[in-house]
Amino acid sequence: MSAESSNYGRFKKHISKITDLGFAGAVLGWDQQVYMPKNGAAHRGQQLATLGTMAHELYVSPSFEKLVRELGDEVNLGDAERTNVALVKKDLERKKKYSPEFVEKMALTTSAAFGAWHEAKSKRDFSIFKPHLETIVAMKREEAEFLGYEEHAYDALVYDYEPGLTVKEIDRIFGALKENFFPFVKSAIANSKPDASFLSKEYPRAKQWEFSKRVIERMGYDFDSGRADDAPHPFCTTFAPKDVRITIRGNEREWAMMFFAAVHEAGHALYELGIPQAEHYGLPLGSAVSLAFHESQSRFWENTIARSLPFWKGRYSELQAIFPENLKEVPLETFYRGVNRVEPSFIRVEADELTYHAHIYIRYLTEKALISGELEVKDLPAFWNDLYEEYLGIRPSHDGEGCLQDVHWSYGSFGYFPTYSFGSFYAAQLHSAMKREIADFDGKVERAEFAPILDWLRTKVHTHGRRFTSDELLKRATGEGLNVGHFMEYARGKYGSEGA
Ligand code: ZN
Repeated sequence: MSAESSNYGRFKKHISKITDLGFAGAVLGWDQQVYMPKNGAAHRGQQLATLGTMAHELYVSPSFEKLVRELGDEVNLGDAERTNVALVKKDLERKKKYSPEFVEKMALTTSAAFGAWHEAKSKRDFSIFKPHLETIVAMKREEAEFLGYEEHAYDALVYDYEPGLTVKEIDRIFGALKENFFPFVKSAIANSKPDASFLSKEYPRAKQWEFSKRVIERMGYDFDSGRADDAPHPFCTTFAPKDVRITIRGNEREWAMMFFAAVHEAGHALYELGIPQAEHYGLPLGSAVSLAFHESQSRFWENTIARSLPFWKGRYSELQAIFPENLKEVPLETFYRGVNRVEPSFIRVEADELTYHAHIYIRYLTEKALISGELEVKDLPAFWNDLYEEYLGIRPSHDGEGCLQDVHWSYGSFGYFPTYSFGSFYAAQLHSAMKREIADFDGKVERAEFAPILDWLRTKVHTHGRRFTSDELLKRATGEGLNVGHFMEYARGKYGSEGA
């Protein structure tokens, strides 16, 4: 029997078709944010929904399910093939729990909610979004029930973003942060009052990109397998195994935004490009393990590398040469402190790498309370503002800079936020292991010799796709399960009195 006509060959071919639809949807979604004229919007949502529905129907088709069942009993499959089949079987069981009616209702609800959220945010008026959010929260509770969970309904929803992560574990990790880390952040805020005015001068966009591009190419991002375009929000998207794009955004009055976002998105892209996607097209072994791990890769490059002192010791003179009028008189130490200043703020996406986790913790507490029913949507703004006062010492003056700032809930995404913090925690743990195993790590960062670092990530993380769970992958890469101590040590080393 030839490979193509074997059961596994047919299985691969079917997944391939579904994946083609997914990537075609990615192209449309990317175009929507990058090039599409305003009047294209009327039909774009429908086009994306059609592709999404076709992919879902192909996935849950009875003939495919039968094939997957038969393959599960086949004895002569190789190790990789068995893993792919077992994980697809698991994915299929979860997808089958969604009735077509629920999927359609959610699509309609969130498409209306997105528009309402947008209006509510710009008018700073929560009441516009409130009825939509009430429907979404009720539907997410329903979803958690039909998906099933052991302890907390929220666990069922987190699964989409970090399979296996539970309220119990999130509470354990944030419990440790509450005790040791959040008080430390308060003292870092009090001690960190650097002059950062030099970052807000005239920085021509083309020159910003010249430097950003140079750095992400050195990281290993290959423009033959990707490209960068302007978009209102930076993101990374995959169209094919060797076509992984990023988007960037520049502000001519502010230097840091484009550079750190470009490094962040390139970190996501390097992960995508390191997964054996061509070999396992659309299959679990050709996919990222989780969103939190994805975020660990982008945050590692953005914060651990590109905001580090060794990096700027090596690169600062290059940046000064590009912007002599703004930076010639600014010493390295001042610049380094400026790009690492710690200050409480209302907006998550603009937060520094320490206060960021308070923003996440607040969102987590809010989502958990909404899903469990302890919090009603009408009480959300006050609940949110109280938490900002408690954890960051500031109170939003309106809901636009408060509970309306993130798009996630309007999409129906609940359980997404914790993955941002867990990404930082994984990144710190990977960094500790890397420093033990890669000789002269800081020297390499200073010289921009990133190849050994990327190789380490490729070997320990990227190449495995979804072969292991996040926890197993972390154990294999670093020798232990998640230990948030590495993150706290990193923060103290960098922001404590003994650090910079
Ligand atoms: Zn990211």
